[in-house]
Amino acid sequence: MKKYFIQTFGCAMNQADSEKINMIFLQSGFIKVTNWKQANVVIFNTCSVRQKWEDRVFGLSEEIFRYNTENNTDILIWITGCMVRKTWINKQYLEDNLTRDKNKSKKINLLNNKEGIFNYDDKLFPRMWDKLDFTLRIEETKYLPLMLTHILWEAIGNDSKFDDYLKSKQLRETPSQANVIIQTWCDNYCTFCIVPYTRWWELSRTHKEILEECVDAVKNWAKEITLIGQNVNSYWKQFVDKKLWNSEKSTWNKLEWKSPFRELLDDINSIEWLDRIRFTSSNPHDMTQDILDSHMELKNNCNYLHFALQSGSDKMLKRMNRKHSYSDFRKQVEYLRSKDPLFSISTDIIVWYSWETEEMFQETVQAFKECDFDFCFTARYSVRKGTLADRMYPDDVSNEEKARRWHILNDLLLKSIQKRNKLMIWREEEILISWEKDEQFHWRTRNFKEVFFNKLEGNKIWDIVTVKILSLDEFVLVWEQV
Ligand code: SF4
Repeated sequence: MKKYFIQTFGCAMNQADSEKINMIFLQSGFIKVTNWKQANVVIFNTCSVRQKWEDRVFGLSEEIFRYNTENNTDILIWITGCMVRKTWINKQYLEDNLTRDKNKSKKINLLNNKEGIFNYDDKLFPRMWDKLDFTLRIEETKYLPLMLTHILWEAIGNDSKFDDYLKSKQLRETPSQANVIIQTWCDNYCTFCIVPYTRWWELSRTHKEILEECVDAVKNWAKEITLIGQNVNSYWKQFVDKKLWNSEKSTWNKLEWKSPFRELLDDINSIEWLDRIRFTSSNPHDMTQDILDSHMELKNNCNYLHFALQSGSDKMLKRMNRKHSYSDFRKQVEYLRSKDPLFSISTDIIVWYSWETEEMFQETVQAFKECDFDFCFTARYSVRKGTLADRMYPDDVSNEEKARRWHILNDLLLKSIQKRNKLMIWREEEILISWEKDEQFHWRTRNFKEVFFNKLEGNKIWDIVTVKILSLDEFVLVWEQV
């Protein structure tokens, strides 16, 4: 049997996409392996947000290419995800095809008819050329069995059942948790971000389809559901007139009427046997009152929210084409913490985005002090090819200077993690055991604090157990099972 290896980089959306890819490979008769040297096909589901992740993909591809050459093997490399702008197949398969028999070449003709399937001009390829066998954008995953059938010269799966990428099912990595995609792609065009160029227009799945998938996940033992999207609280936005959306947003609270996302949360909350709902990512400018309140009003909606501030400076937010101000963001944080002091907030920040002055940076420092984040993904800015910033804003600051600002924020973050974690001491918390490693169980509290505790006789994955928080070991909470 053919074997595949998959490595995922980046966000929860990419993790969910990889779960779909797993399903396609397994239903097509492949076996998953954990060492790429044993695989016939290696898949990199990539992220363009960080340069180091792109470099890792280039490095691994080089390594596989060398291994193939030295050992006379033929491990195929498929790249998908955010590094891919255009679909492409290695030239040799196209040329080989012309000399092969007519019946089989129907496959390639079919592919040829797909618009843009053979592009040689993506910036990815001159760099990788022969090392890369093919790329598909994530929404084109449905062509995967067809591509493999052509490349491997044997019938691979039946692609018709994967025709709609969003509907194709996922093979969950951790069955106690389900990542359910509700919305995908993004039309916000933040100037630093590549997502609007790597994926299509913002698209939401129907309420019915999502609800059915959640019910199905719970029937298959999921106790925690994470709703995934580039921008979850703009769920269904593409079907509503933009002006209407913006003017009605302020009325979406439980007294008047609800946002489409809140209606979805209400229905998911009432699924029997479900214990936890989370969602990511949220954008502060599309956050509505009814979604903030859902954390307090829906018993399964956890007291944790990840939403990206990016900078504490309004001037910088404008340059980034973010549509919220720092005070909008801060009000939302304060509201949630006023209702529940243990409410965890994590965020994303970019340091040294183009022309970030010391004054702008100090506004971000101030935001850190005021918001007491439970966690932050702090990125040192590096320009992403193809973004608006690539054309408009220089990335001309030394790495040392970027590191200096990064360390200032990191030191503040460590202090706020300590401060926030101290609030948890002596509390009893429910943990959903999700995975085990080295004789320890792992997972998180409802407010997303990570937990490791020794395996006890009688406990197993999927159990919900109560632990007591005893102390703080620098930043890490120390627990015992009650
Ligand atoms: S909201 Fe901005 S940062 Fe987030 S995916 Fe869309 S364009 Fe990118």
